[in-house]
Amino acid sequence: MQSAQLISSDSVSLQSDMFGSVVVGIGTAGFVRVRDMLAPLPSSAAEKLSVKGFISRRILEEQQGVKQITVEDALSRDDIKVAFVCTENAAHEENIRMFLEAGKHVCVEYPMAMTHKTAVELWDLAQEKGVVLHEEHIELLTADFKQLKKDVAGKRLEEGFLHFTGGPLKPGFGFPAFSGIARLTWLVDLFGELSVTAASMEEDQQNKYMKMTAQLITKEQKPLTWIEEWAPGLSRAKDINFRFDSCTITQLPPATREPVGIFMQDLVLFSQKLLGQVPRDQLHAERRRVLHCLELADRIQQLSLQGSAQDT
Ligand code: NAD
Repeated sequence: MQSAQLISSDSVSLQSDMFGSVVVGIGTAGFVRVRDMLAPLPSSAAEKLSVKGFISRRILEEQQGVKQITVEDALSRDDIKVAFVCTENAAHEENIRMFLEAGKHVCVEYPMAMTHKTAVELWDLAQEKGVVLHEEHIELLTADFKQLKKDVAGKRLEEGFLHFTGGPLKPGFGFPAFSGIARLTWLVDLFGELSVTAASMEEDQQNKYMKMTAQLITKEQKPLTWIEEWAPGLSRAKDINFRFDSCTITQLPPATREPVGIFMQDLVLFSQKLLGQVPRDQLHAERRRVLHCLELADRIQQLSLQGSAQDT
């Protein structure tokens, strides 16, 4: 009898330290979140997550054995403590706000919001509710970026250029400075905080063509040009040219793919935040970087739209 009681109280405590989760939006990213929670990295913090359901605006069959649930259900259930927001960018704010208000932790695929002001509000709300708000940045976790960061360390930048092509931009993903926040995050992570000196936008809606050009400068007043170009038929690629005092880097360094996938690495980081295992300094630095990038994106959008208005 005594041992039966012990077993049941043990299993209750095992259950209660799990973070039941819901995935909102079953696109590419949402599918990966479900997949990774079903098979977390062994012996990692991600084992503390358990997927309880997914939410979609469509009526869908079970996804990877996981059932669709309603928003109301997800918000009210005590066993659901975490929401993964994986919708198109335009729907992030509403979803994040709703889950934070309900006292749930939120992991959102970048970018968390379409304005800097909204992101500050969301972060303040998370703090007020005492929950974690995490913005995924898988682009910082790729093997080639980690190698690039090592290669750039200690060198003095003279001038830099980053041109991204892809396309066409999907509806609901917003202005290119926000949908392309991963490239801006690279530049900030490599070269520190930046300022925007000019920005422009070319658009041909009929042909789904978009080109955004942003001129940035580092704290040392060194220029960086960032271009996002989206059109049907353009292959997804990054062209870089970073000129330093000692050498020029024109290609991403070859790097061996790591055994742990980038979304899984992000899942482990988010789970470590849930468990209070991430140092305060790191959390502050991350928040600062995320908000800084969104502030730059805001400014780029503002300047581009001013330029377009003057052209018409
Ligand atoms: P996606 O287009 O595959 O899915 C986007 C959303 O659209 C999903 O919520 C999906 O359920 C919804 N959707 C699709 N068709 C729909 C329909 N007919 N009716 C209603 N809803 C429909 O986009 P994604 O690549 O998964 O991107 C989602 C988020 O993840 C974005 O914020 C993106 O910036 C971010 N992100 C994606 C990746 C990636 O590798 N795909 C990487 C980093 C960040």
